[in-house]
Amino acid sequence: MKIEVEAPLVASKAVSGQFVMIRLREGGERIPLTISGCDPERGTITIIFQEVGKTTLDLGRLKPGDSILNLAGPLGRPPELKRFGTVVCVGGGVGIAPVLFRARVLKELGNRIISIIGARSRDMLILKEEMEEVSDRLYVTTDDGSLGQKGFVTDPLRDVLSDEQVDLVVAIGPIGMMKAVSGVAAEFGVKTAVSLNPIMLDGTGMCGSCRVIVGGEVRFACVDGPEFDGGLVDFDALLLRNRRYLEEEEISLKRARG
Ligand code: FAD
Repeated sequence: MKIEVEAPLVASKAVSGQFVMIRLREGGERIPLTISGCDPERGTITIIFQEVGKTTLDLGRLKPGDSILNLAGPLGRPPELKRFGTVVCVGGGVGIAPVLFRARVLKELGNRIISIIGARSRDMLILKEEMEEVSDRLYVTTDDGSLGQKGFVTDPLRDVLSDEQVDLVVAIGPIGMMKAVSGVAAEFGVKTAVSLNPIMLDGTGMCGSCRVIVGGEVRFACVDGPEFDGGLVDFDALLLRNRRYLEEEEISLKRARG
């Protein structure tokens, strides 16, 4: 689901890689969502999200013209944005949205962009045309082979890294995908920037809920990230921590669906 939110102050400052915390109503939970585009002239930001639980379901039910009670941002440490040379942008599932924003910015900065996007199946693959426009070359994969190459994004990544000099890999998507991409890139000595998605409550470094282990040290994804060097991230610890409210989330989703 894609929404455009009027937030002129956020739109005037946000850069690719940053996020907002939103709260839909009094007593509602605060959730982080990545800024997938911004238009400072119109004073709007774009958010693309997947309806996975109560809050994202409620967000998806908003009609054009409705308001969001609170929106805080732009949050997160801005990533390094410069001319690296050749950058491989890898997006998985809803992660393709922030990858498109990054690819556009990096292209404008003079980088050569090779993109690889993947999803479970054809109907779940978003923004293919937009990725095609911004990329010097685009590879598409689906798990079931319904579009593009059958398999995972790591398959074309391995081919690209074997064939040419790559200066940076950017990977945004499911935790398992970011772990696999970072592993493959490391085999070729290339650094991967990943955007982590731990459970985050305040987004400003106060609660510690979003702590992740990077290079053996505890870091807060909200203020130290959310982007980190994928080669240093303990993805297994992140997966485990993200499952800690599974039972409560299932109950809440059942209630929200009615
Ligand atoms: P719930 O049923 O509460 O949870 C479903 C799953 O979402 C959980 O298992 C957990 O893995 C995750 N989750 C739940 N609560 C939180 C929380 N407070 N913080 C983070 N994750 C949570 N999703 C998108 O679809 N688009 C985005 O652009 C996007 N950007 C994100 C940026 C950051 C920095 C982070 C940390 C997460 C981002 N997410 C994004 C994930 C999104 O925040 C969760 O899907 C959302 O919070 C789920 O809330 P829920 O009530 O709908 O589902």
